[in-house]
Amino acid sequence: MKPYIGRFAPSPTGPLHAGSLVAALASWLDARAHGGTWLVRIEDVDATRCSVQAQHTIMQQLHAHGLVPDAEPWVQSQRSSIYQQALDALVAQGLAYPCTCSRKQIAEALEAQGGTRLRHGELVYPGTCRPRGGSAMGRPAQAHAWRLDMAACLMQQGLLATEATHWHDRRLGAQQQVVAQEVGDFVLRRSDGLWAYQLAVVVDDAAQGITHIVRGEDLADNTARQIVLQQALGLPQPQYLHTPLVLAADGEKLSKQNGAQPVLADDTAQALRNLQAAAGALDLPPATTATLPEALQQWTADWRQRWRMT
Ligand code: GLU
Ligand code: ZN
Repeated sequence: MKPYIGRFAPSPTGPLHAGSLVAALASWLDARAHGGTWLVRIEDVDATRCSVQAQHTIMQQLHAHGLVPDAEPWVQSQRSSIYQQALDALVAQGLAYPCTCSRKQIAEALEAQGGTRLRHGELVYPGTCRPRGGSAMGRPAQAHAWRLDMAACLMQQGLLATEATHWHDRRLGAQQQVVAQEVGDFVLRRSDGLWAYQLAVVVDDAAQGITHIVRGEDLADNTARQIVLQQALGLPQPQYLHTPLVLAADGEKLSKQNGAQPVLADDTAQALRNLQAAAGALDLPPATTATLPEALQQWTADWRQRWRMT
């Protein structure tokens, strides 16, 4: 068996809040319970929303809660050339193509096809720029995005575009998604040059040798897409565990938009209270000890039992 390597991959759009602390604690516990390595990766590809300040704050918050990575964090904004290599490999295999469509053009094309399909506020791309069989693919002169050719990827994997991608989640069980229909040809690189989360996360999980992904349930929906991309790039598939979300008073996922407060930990007592709340969200019993390391150790033992590890 490959040695366990796990990670917590925050986007530094702001400080950690109660919800992100749950994801951090869960991935830390899973790594410790497996006797594995725990890494932190700063996912700052969307430079318009991320800041170095938030990155420092997050690292301080993790340290204050006793969640210390086993190596220096990787920072995605420094890894552009690696993502470019992955995109080049996809283009060389005919699995990615340039797209010059504006949002408006995409909406109009969908309208002409008889209706707009929306997925999490995103339009399902109608395939306007997808190369038709055999046609040589020119590089447009104007600004353009790069999209994954989903049907071509699935075909290469011996699947029909109408077939579902199946995967297993350790907590949620059997999952499936017909990616070509439900998501379509998603963006790998935006027309403004920014790398898309999907490409960066898949490339880096493989580059860091991540064997287990533990993250919030709001990200579960991305998994099928990431598996298709892993296969297109010939990368191994990690195991997945998506943790319960912390909901805000309005029943929505806790986020900065609905007033999630940063988790403060000016002293150990406060850090311990924050962790007790996070552990509770993960259905772990309250820690009965007074120090951070002891509490974390207790939860690690609980976690090991929960997931029947020996
Ligand atoms: N950076 C992503 C986020 O903060 C998480 C990525 C992941 O865990 O796969 O939402
Ligand atoms: Zn297009």
